Amino acid sequence: MLFRSLFLTLVFACGVFAQDNPEWTTNHTPFRVVGNVYYVGSKDLASYLITTPQGHILINSSLTSSVPLIEKNVEALGFHFKDVKILLISHAHWDHAAGSAEIKRLTGAKYMVMDSDVPVVESGGKTDFQYGSEPESHFPPTKVDRVLHDGDEVKLNGVVLVAHKTPGHTKGCTTWTMKVREDNKTYNVVIVGSPNVNTGYKLVDNAAYPTIAADYESTFQTLKSLPCDVFLGAHGGYFGMEAKFARIKQGAANPFVDPAGYKSYVAEREQAFRKELAKQSGQ
Ligand SMILES: [Zn+2]
Repeated sequence: MLFRSLFLTLVFACGVFAQDNPEWTTNHTPFRVVGNVYYVGSKDLASYLITTPQGHILINSSLTSSVPLIEKNVEALGFHFKDVKILLISHAHWDHAAGSAEIKRLTGAKYMVMDSDVPVVESGGKTDFQYGSEPESHFPPTKVDRVLHDGDEVKLNGVVLVAHKTPGHTKGCTTWTMKVREDNKTYNVVIVGSPNVNTGYKLVDNAAYPTIAADYESTFQTLKSLPCDVFLGAHGGYFGMEAKFARIKQGAANPFVDPAGYKSYVAEREQAFRKELAKQSGQ
């Protein structure tokens, strides 16, 4: 029993046994973040709907069990799930991409994925450098309709999302940016893919991912270079979603406008990466 609870603590830390994490599977009230950007995910697994009058973009399909929840949230906001034309992900892990096959089936959306994450989503997680041999992290393989490269734009009826390759956490981890107009102001929105070094990740002499440490270095350079007003990410926990949601008030400043929070988050995550790299390098 003691062993089992220790084991569960360890696997929770790396996010395996996703279905058991209540923050991942408990719904959250859907809401408008800024402009035409809406939060339609669970308490911690973030999904975003970016709307246009002629169809929408959805970021993160999340778990297979998340799909009905996301659909319900989209409809609750007054939009039609079937109007999702483009499906994107933060990165090719099951907690952000497992529902993609089902969402494509339900909506006919085009699935657009960063180049180095394509083999992982098309193999259903079996080619992931870290979790490939763990059946708990496999998911329905999903055909990619458009392969993205660093800096590519995804456009729909005037909405332009830019795909920034921020690798390390996965080889094709993607940070999405867009500009949003609201009340005659333009906001730079950043949706962080993941800068996290998971438990068990080998940063040194990793035969399955030789460039992992250099990739994290480039990711932190990229994240530090992005102008950010509205700070969002693949998990609500990255940007304190629930605390900020509680502060939404008519007439008050939008709590999701948080450039300082973004800067300190990136700085803290970079420090954590450097500490782990030093430890693994024997320094
Ligand atoms: Zn992940």
